[in-house]
Amino acid sequence: MDDDEDTVLDYSAVSGAGDEDTSAEAAETPGIEQDSWSRRTAGGEVVLKDLDDEMHSILSAAQSSDASKSAVPSGGIVSSGLGAVSGLFRNLVGGKQLTEDDLVKPLKSMNDHLIKRNVAREAAERLCDSVKRDLLGTKTASFQSIDAVIRISLEKALTHILTPTSSLDLLRSIAATTSRNRASATSGAGVKRPYVISVVGVNGVGKSTTLAKLAFLLLENNYRVLVVGGDTFRSGAVEQLRVHVKNLQGLIASRQTTGKIDLYERGYGKDPAHIARDAVTLASSADTETRAATTFDVVLIDTAGRRHNDARLMSSLEGFARLANPDKIFMVGEALVGSDSVAQARDFYNAFGHNTDGSKRGLDGFIVSKCDTVGEMVGTIVSMVHATGVPVVAVGVGQHYPDLRTLSVGWCTRLLMQ
Ligand code: GDP
Repeated sequence: MDDDEDTVLDYSAVSGAGDEDTSAEAAETPGIEQDSWSRRTAGGEVVLKDLDDEMHSILSAAQSSDASKSAVPSGGIVSSGLGAVSGLFRNLVGGKQLTEDDLVKPLKSMNDHLIKRNVAREAAERLCDSVKRDLLGTKTASFQSIDAVIRISLEKALTHILTPTSSLDLLRSIAATTSRNRASATSGAGVKRPYVISVVGVNGVGKSTTLAKLAFLLLENNYRVLVVGGDTFRSGAVEQLRVHVKNLQGLIASRQTTGKIDLYERGYGKDPAHIARDAVTLASSADTETRAATTFDVVLIDTAGRRHNDARLMSSLEGFARLANPDKIFMVGEALVGSDSVAQARDFYNAFGHNTDGSKRGLDGFIVSKCDTVGEMVGTIVSMVHATGVPVVAVGVGQHYPDLRTLSVGWCTRLLMQ
């Protein structure tokens, strides 16, 4: 995929880039067909499409390119035909009621299969238990009936684990805050505060790219977005965000949206928690020009990448959560991290301390990036969610701004069964 020049959104090399350079990048942003990545609801919201079988074509394309061959193991998700899991239960046909003994062997093999697919042990056990419960006592009329029970059973268990969310949930929550702000401005009462979202994660996982993708979705929904340069640590991080903001400004100029986007930054070395708080205060003030309740509807805060086991950097997240007080904190995690992903998810989940009412301030969602580059990420996703109870809000499927999707449980089930 990297062969395609105009797909590259990695501007980390433009550290210190001047305005002329960045506007040239913006002019090259390709046109975007709306129904390729989103659909419009009856209520008029532009929501993300589910990640579904389109991934087969994305990965097939990757597989046929030499560069990506190693990323997609043979027999990986591009393979077709009967699912491996179904095959494990093939010998159970016989018109009798299934007993515990009948199921021991195929369930053990199913457990091994799931672990091979990167599903963590506890999550694999839970999935197998669910299949066992649903198969026990059923009469095995045909192989198709067993296959259907397994499929439905896995889908049910995965729905529980993955607690699927739609981008519509996020958009509705933002809409509620925006109308509350308008109402309180009209009545002159109450505090006005834009909706605040922050992305966190390990270095290089795709935080700023994901933040730009979220901004694009919000702009398509006519929101006014303030992006905050909260990575005051890595040289080039602020410039990279500036390029994204310029690109998006260029994009919306040619699209039907009343949204707007700007960057708030104070350079490097300063405390990101204070910068974030000041940005939120600025965005909360009434817009004197348009007389809108607040100057921006949504504040999107980038943060410095940090290793989840770096105690010093992780501890600063607690102060950040207190001062910036985001409505949502999303952890961006790579589909590629493998077994480290569960530890990453747990450590970030535990880094934000407590709310003022004493309840735990965990993460509000995962955004799993780079799903276009690896065939085996479903197991990783299931394990991260199982370990924390934090849902996957969206998945990244490429380097373009519209390359964001929501996760489909049916699709995950199909992949795990293969
Ligand atoms: P950050 O350091 O976490 O902010 O990461 P960046 O946003 O700078 O992204 C690091 C690299 O990952 C860049 O080259 C991005 O273009 C790339 N990237 C981010 N998301 C995706 C994705 O969903 N798919 C692919 N293929 N690349 C991605």
